[in-house]
Amino acid sequence: MVLQSAHGSDVRRRVWLATRQSSREQVQRLERLVTLRDRLAKVMGARNFAEYALSDKMARTPDAVAGFLDSLAKRTLPLARDELARVHTDAAGAAVPGALDEWDREYYAAQYLGRHRSRARASDFLSSFLSLGVVMQGLSRLFSEIYGVRFVPVATGGREVWDGEVRRLDVLADAGGVEQRIGIIYCDLFERAGKQPGSASHYTVRCSREIVRTDASEAMDADAATIPLLEAGGRTFQIPTIALTCNFAVPGARRPTLLSLHETETLFHEMGHAMHTMLGRTAMHNISGTRCATDFVELPSVLMEHFVMDERVLGLFARHFETGEPLPMDLVRDYQREQDCLRHNETLSQVLMAMLDQRLYTAEIGAAGLDSDAVYYELNRAYGLFAPVREANWQAQLGHLFGYGATYYSYLLDRAIAAAVWRDVFAADPLSRAAGERFRTEVLRWGGGREPWECVRGVLGREDLRGEHAMALIGAAGADM
Ligand SMILES: [Zn+2]
Repeated sequence: MVLQSAHGSDVRRRVWLATRQSSREQVQRLERLVTLRDRLAKVMGARNFAEYALSDKMARTPDAVAGFLDSLAKRTLPLARDELARVHTDAAGAAVPGALDEWDREYYAAQYLGRHRSRARASDFLSSFLSLGVVMQGLSRLFSEIYGVRFVPVATGGREVWDGEVRRLDVLADAGGVEQRIGIIYCDLFERAGKQPGSASHYTVRCSREIVRTDASEAMDADAATIPLLEAGGRTFQIPTIALTCNFAVPGARRPTLLSLHETETLFHEMGHAMHTMLGRTAMHNISGTRCATDFVELPSVLMEHFVMDERVLGLFARHFETGEPLPMDLVRDYQREQDCLRHNETLSQVLMAMLDQRLYTAEIGAAGLDSDAVYYELNRAYGLFAPVREANWQAQLGHLFGYGATYYSYLLDRAIAAAVWRDVFAADPLSRAAGERFRTEVLRWGGGREPWECVRGVLGREDLRGEHAMALIGAAGADM
């Protein structure tokens, strides 16, 4: 709030600095973690932890990741600078003289947005058009258009679900004129006491796999009779069961649950994972659906975020929950314009975090130990939008350096690939069955059973995406992330 609203630049600077500094103890803990991981990697025969962690990923090598992040940074920097120039203006819209410092960005962006306020910002105006029921129907319509599958609500039996609010959807696919059940989704969408708060998730309860029917295997598996199966092409498959959890508000007595556009995007994202699981058709369970390389797994879900922001898709379903009137698209455009005000700045800060992750886990750690302050400073000097600040050693506050450990680039990579898939395959007609079939046969169907780059080459029709330069090419592709 201070960064957005304090008029004095010095106040903003002090508050910004206070949030960008790590304690000595935090810094030492980070450096010890990175040093121990470096030692582990060397024991395992790798040169550094990044090389060790990337060997089974789509990226394969630290050089490939560096090439990707560097090309993405070079493409994003001028766009981010343009955004800063746009917001660094006075009430009359004239450019403010002098350089912008990092602690000034939020302030000028807030001022800029204040001058361009639209109806879309009025609390729940957009939400009135996005009741949960309408959005779920919309997803079913969309999947029916592009994949020929639809959702059917099914009543649940006594001990089938873990809470009375959980709803079951069977996923039916058109198989040459007859409908076939290809999967089951349990939707646990509402917040409640005792439920893990925060982010939405896709959980695989039972993978898909091929069942080889022999008398012996049926006799050995006491549960065989209860496993939902599917016959396809003379083979038998166990169909997947997943749970999809969110934390949406519980509907009121006279009002359905209304989603914000952001929550709608979250539901689309998770349904992207769900379709990966539903449409994956592999013989082995350990490569079914989402069980693929972790830097490839977000592609189907991030792609869905492009669908939800497309007017042709929103127009399929978004209706006012009381009047039934369709969503006015000019409001969506206003909303998007505001959301996008510092979009490239946000991308660039993600790129910097991913670069920090790579630089720390590829650093040569000599007798003097690792100096993470220096790594962070040097990175900001080389790629940052603002003059670097020596006292700001925020690196030890980035918890992802622990959880991701040399793979924080993954989400950016999948965003870049999804943007290219959207642009080259779906943007002309996001409801095209041919485009859906292409994505299904080149990507979704394989789960983790095909080299990810082969999937990407197949769906994009880009034979040049090979070898160590493939990632840099994706980073430079210029698709709108
Ligand atoms: Zn995801």
